[in-house]
Amino acid sequence: MDTPRETKKVVVCGGGVIGVCTAYFLAKKGAAVTLVEISAVACAASGKAGGFLALDWCDGGPLSALARASFNLHRSLAQELDGPNSYGYRALTTVSLTISESHNPPTSSTSTGDSVVPPWVDGPVRNTRTIGNTETTAQVHPQLFTRTLLSNAIEKYGVEVVIGKLERVTFEGGRVKSAVLEDGRVINADAVVLALGPWSGKFEALSSLFRVYGLKAHSIILEPKEPEAITPHALFLSYYPAQGGKPLDPEVYPRPTGEVYLCGMSAVAEVPEDPEEITANPESISVLKRVAKTVSSRLGEGEAELKAEQACFLPCTDDDLPVIGKLPAVSGYYVATGHSCWGILNGPATGAAMAELILDGESTIVDINRFSPYRFVGRRRNC
Ligand SMILES: Cc1cc2nc3c(=O)[nH]c(=O)nc-3n(C[C@H](O)[C@H](O)[C@H](O)COP(=O)(O)OP(=O)(O)OC[C@H]3O[C@@H](n4cnc5c(N)ncnc54)[C@H](O)[C@@H]3O)c2cc1C
Repeated sequence: MDTPRETKKVVVCGGGVIGVCTAYFLAKKGAAVTLVEISAVACAASGKAGGFLALDWCDGGPLSALARASFNLHRSLAQELDGPNSYGYRALTTVSLTISESHNPPTSSTSTGDSVVPPWVDGPVRNTRTIGNTETTAQVHPQLFTRTLLSNAIEKYGVEVVIGKLERVTFEGGRVKSAVLEDGRVINADAVVLALGPWSGKFEALSSLFRVYGLKAHSIILEPKEPEAITPHALFLSYYPAQGGKPLDPEVYPRPTGEVYLCGMSAVAEVPEDPEEITANPESISVLKRVAKTVSSRLGEGEAELKAEQACFLPCTDDDLPVIGKLPAVSGYYVATGHSCWGILNGPATGAAMAELILDGESTIVDINRFSPYRFVGRRRNC
């Protein structure tokens, strides 16, 4: 007869998509999970991202297996959790196109003309190309996805949520002992996972090993007067501003909620201590508004209501790969961060892999050895 395994107590720190997916799969596999979040669940990038998902866009690179496993997990989670209704999961057609604000395109460009421009796109577009179909591209509303997953984790698997700031992790005999919060609360644990997104760099245990920096990106959310006219087409743009210079690369995602999300305008910037202190740069927001009205008259002022203007940080690493796995030197200490522009896509497979690693000792859903923090051991830090 098998001896029942003792319930492992795991504290997951960070209530973004990575922390929530990790908490969900850990608790589903039987761990007793506490999720610690400083502000509100999905208050940062995981609530303000586009939510675009692609099956094969990482093919040929080190993220391929993770992305494919995660795209398929998104599909099965959507069935399990009523994704289309609860968090706007749907398949999409994805189109790339070039558009010029000045209506005076650079002379070198040519039109491939091999795809249909969505009917609501009435700006001066050219070079249109279908780059994803309903088998290979999809979307979720990232904040609703993250919060729905957490509600299910709480209701079905007993995850506990604590609002507070992780200050430090304590150890005893080479093992993790507890997570200590800024207000003095102590949560005992067999394992601690740091899933702090761009705030990972503020933790010595991580910053002494590798760099995580924040790439600040902007977004706006519009609600057009006639949302039913906006078809489920995601747009990846090469946008030539009227004043010249390099083209910008904003993205446009209509959502089944009737909203249209636009993002772009990114630059490396200091990550503030408190996620609530992140503010958008007004110039970046006004560029996104100009992009919107140039793409479609249905997204211009008077035709669409501005519901949000916001900014958030992509968590980036120096080798452009996420850091997923066990930290060196002590037992029970783990990290999952650095997902850059694919955290919403790669959240489910990251969470499922972390759950297997912590509870079974290895991940079978996808090989995460490539992403181990051990790759930085012995390297001189570059920051
Ligand atoms: C504009 C934009 C568009 C994007 N679009 C897409 C997309 O279409 N598809 C895609 O796959 N990805 C997209 N991404 C990327 C994706 O949003 C990120 O990779 C992902 O959200 C990172 O999740 P995370 O959980 O690591 O970090 P975060 O979402 O930043 O979560 C970290 C959490 O940790 C909390 N925290 C910080 N410090 C502490 C502490 N001391 N104690 C407790 N809690 C703490 C924070 O409050 C936060 O909630 C986009 C990103 C941006 C910026």
